[in-house]
Amino acid sequence: MARYREAYCRLCRAEGIKLFLKGDRCYSDKCAFERRGYVPGEHGQTRKKQSDYGIQLREKQKLKRMSGLLEKQFKGYFEKADRQKGVTGTNLLLLLEKRLDNMVYRMGFANSRNEARQLVRHCHFLVNGKRVTIPSFQVKVGDVIQVTEKSRKVTRILDAMETVARRSVPQWLELDKGAFSGMVKALPSREELTMPIQEQLIVEFYSK
Ligand code: SF4
Repeated sequence: MARYREAYCRLCRAEGIKLFLKGDRCYSDKCAFERRGYVPGEHGQTRKKQSDYGIQLREKQKLKRMSGLLEKQFKGYFEKADRQKGVTGTNLLLLLEKRLDNMVYRMGFANSRNEARQLVRHCHFLVNGKRVTIPSFQVKVGDVIQVTEKSRKVTRILDAMETVARRSVPQWLELDKGAFSGMVKALPSREELTMPIQEQLIVEFYSK
């Protein structure tokens, strides 16, 4: 499956925001954005005035990169969100939030969404007792995500569980560390979705 293979830290610098793509490193003083928080390249430190289109494009890129998706997949989510009832921007954020890899990350079983995606593919999780290996699987309210018995010694999972306190588990999720499981108590409201995204700009971008 196609995926982004270049340096992740360049993405944060290009978007002018920490996207938290490299797990533990993002919280340390090794974070490239902390050290060089400007756009990579020769003219990276020169301020440029952005057009409306440029601002909308950047917002779309920010969310797409934060979610670790490629353009085609991201656009697919937008089209789905647009077909649903309600506010398209909020629908889009919710669809991305309900992905299994995101839930695994939010619950603290992985240090980044990229790591979560890999762990899901490698059969480390059960949803309601059944093995699910599809990172895009949409999780529902009441679903229980659990680390398989065999995977409870996997160092990457244990490390992530130890450091989850740094970013805390959202209130709409319930984590039972002892049982290596988490439950989706409710779906988050827009206010509870803390991603620094202005989704209306993304809707405007795709509505042109
Ligand atoms: Fe972004 Fe810093 Fe993490 Fe690199 S280490 S991905 S710059 S937040």
